[in-house]
This record gives sequence, structure tokens and C-alpha cells, in this order.
Amino acid sequence: MYDVAIIGAGINGCSVSYELTQKNKNVVIFDMGGIASGGSGAAGAFIAPKFSKSGELKDLLHDAFVYSMEFYEKNFGHLLTKVPLLHIAHDEKDSAILRHYKQNTPLEMKTQPQELLESLEPQVKDKESIYMDAGVVNAKGMCEAMSRDAKFVKEKVTSLVYDEGVWIINDTYTAKDVVLATGAYEAVIKEPYIQIRGVWGHRIDVKTTTPNPYSIHQFLSISPSKDGVLALGATHNVHYHPQKNKEKYNLEEGRAELLEKASRTMNLENVEVINDYTGLRSGSFDYMPLLGSLVLSKETLATSMRKIRVKKPDFEEFLYYPNLYMINGNGGYGFVLAPYLAKILTKHILSGEKISERISPARFFARWAKKL
Ligand SMILES: Cc1cc2nc3c(=O)[nH]c(=O)nc-3n(C[C@H](O)[C@H](O)[C@H](O)COP(=O)(O)OP(=O)(O)OC[C@H]3O[C@@H](n4cnc5c(N)ncnc54)[C@H](O)[C@@H]3O)c2cc1C
Repeated sequence: MYDVAIIGAGINGCSVSYELTQKNKNVVIFDMGGIASGGSGAAGAFIAPKFSKSGELKDLLHDAFVYSMEFYEKNFGHLLTKVPLLHIAHDEKDSAILRHYKQNTPLEMKTQPQELLESLEPQVKDKESIYMDAGVVNAKGMCEAMSRDAKFVKEKVTSLVYDEGVWIINDTYTAKDVVLATGAYEAVIKEPYIQIRGVWGHRIDVKTTTPNPYSIHQFLSISPSKDGVLALGATHNVHYHPQKNKEKYNLEEGRAELLEKASRTMNLENVEVINDYTGLRSGSFDYMPLLGSLVLSKETLATSMRKIRVKKPDFEEFLYYPNLYMINGNGGYGFVLAPYLAKILTKHILSGEKISERISPARFFARWAKKL
């Protein structure tokens, strides 16, 4: 029997695997497509904060950014490239946000070097921007390295049954605890109050004779080039879902869109597409992540609606699936949030440390139940 079974080997599942195996837990991790075969394999995997005026998501991402940069550098320095990030406003509203951010952030802002300015398209040069130290990780390599001390099983989990204090997975494997890290793919446990939005993304590796040592974000993300190869990526397609749409995603159209978006920021010469990566990123409806135990909705509703309908319900009075946890909904910041959230979840699983109600999946149960 395993201590913990993790379903999903994206950056969330692999970060939890790392934390638990560091604590000598016996972990099995399942993925139907292989390690980093979902959204994580498609990601540009930039480590950057959220540039917005204020709000709890901005604060969470600030803390996660500072934590993750240090975490990756200390534990997986060979898979992290520390690189300056140039974030350029795409419209007037965005310019105002960036100005406000620069005036209020404790992070150090830098001055753009002349050679970077010269590499940009003329209409971009005088736009409001942020230039600061950030990072980019090797997405697949990081997931593989973080999960290397766990047993990996390439299998789709279709059955999850709790019997006499043990979870039985696909009628074969047993574990004391289960962590659901399935991203925007079909849920293994279906609860009506958990709704994950999947946004389809596409990243291409291109060969180009234009050198670029910077991370540049405007209408899409442009990675620093390695051996003449540059990655261009965006999660831009809200209409396509690989498990819902009948037709296949049109790679040619996706490539053309990415190249057009890149051309608005910088002119890339002699471009040849050499690889495509696609996947879903998952977001919640209030943009905050989902971390912690899942409420048993039917059972909780059957106890007392009076407790649920109050203005501020007490989450501790809800009934929860035993020894079952979720880590999901990281939006476009999976690689920034995952190490930080995995640390919190591991402390919760191993020593019962409380998880903030603002990221607990139970907040969605409370909202959903009130509307019934
Ligand atoms: C094009 C693109 C660019 C991005 N760029 C960045 C970026 O620069 N920086 C950043 O921080 N984030 C970025 N993101 C977002 C980031 O990729 C996601 O937030 C992150 O990958 C989510 O990780 P995850 O582990 O939750 O999900 P996933 O990586 O999708 O992992 C879920 C895994 O679960 C598996 N699975 C699902 N159901 C089952 C089942 N029943 N049985 C077995 N396996 C199952 C799937 O196969 C999948 O591998 C980007 C995303 C995309 C698509």
C-alpha cells in the first residue's frame, strides 16, 4: 500500500510528489498520457508575478513568485534559467496598471538595456513596460525531476473507491491518501460545485536567426533563445477543448496566430517551426486556486441547510471526503504557484495545518449550496 496516490503528473502533481517524497512518504503518481503530458508540457513555464493593481490573487502570486524562484534555484538550479523579463503593455488600460504596479511593488525594477529596445518593433518601443529579474524553467524536465522518487504509473484513473480506511484505485492500487491533480481534464470525482475552466494553449519552438536573450511578454510569451531556438506560447483559445470538441485542433491556424502575435512585438527573421506543444490550463471561476479537501455535497446538504444558508458558513461543519485532496485551478501561473501550494498542502496532509478558506474548494460548495 502507498502512503499517497497522486492523480495527474503535471507541475501540481509533481510538486506535491516532491514535497511528500522529501518527507520519506511512499508515493505513486498516475498519468494517462505520461509525465507533463497535459497543460504543463505545453507551458512556456515562465516564473513571473502578476502585474495588476491590487487584489488577493496578486498578493498570493507575489508570495508564490518570491518562494518559487528561491525554491527552483535551491533544489533544481540546473532546470531554472534566471533571465530578465520585459513585460510590455498591450493597451492604455494595461499601461495604467503597469505604472501603478511599478510604483507600489517591493520588487526591484530595472532599466531596459539599449540593445533590447533596438530589437523591438517601432510601435512598441515607447509603450509602458516592466523590466525585472525573473526566470523560466524547463517544464517537462522539472516535472520529471520532481517526481523521480515516486512510482510512476502511466494509466488513466477511472475508479476511485474508499473502503475501510483505504482508497482503492482502478481496483488494483491502494493508498491511504489521494491527491487529485488532474488539471482541466475530466474530473475523477464529480461534484457539482467544482467547475474548472479549461483554456487551450499552444506553444511552438521556432528556429530563427534573430537572437534574443530576454523573456518578452506582450500579446504572447517569447522565450530567450537557446541554440537558435525560441519558444512562442500563449493560452489563447477558450473555444477549443480536446475532450469536448469533435474536430481536431488546427495546428496550422494556431501557428499562424502565434507568429502574427509575435510579429507585433519583434521582427523574427528566417523562422522555421520545429515543434508544437498543446494543452489545457485550468482556472477556477474566481481565478484563485483550489487547494484542500473536497466537500461531500449530498451528505452535507442532508445534515442542515440552516448551517449552510447563513452569511458566513463555518467550513468545519461541512462533511468532507476522507483523506482526499485537490490541487488545481492555477490558471496561467501553474509553475509559479505549484511549489508554494504543494508545500501548504503537504503540511495540511501530514500535520493538519489549516488551509486558507480563500483557496479551499469548500468556498465553491458554500456559494453553490446557498443558491439551491
Ligand atoms: C501554452 C501554455 C503556456 C503556459 N505558460 C505558462 C507560464 O509561462 N508560466 C506558468 O506558470 N504557467 C503557464 N501555463 C499554465 C500552466 O501550464 C498550468 O497552470 C499548469 O500546467 C497546470 O498544471 P496542472 O498540474 O494543474 O495540470 P496539467 O499539467 O494539465 O496536469 C494534469 C495531468 O493530469 C492527467 N490526468 C487527468 N485526468 C487523469 C486521469 N483520470 N487519470 C490519469 N491522469 C489524468 C493529465 O494527463 C495531465 O497530464 C501555460 C499553459 C499553457 C497551456
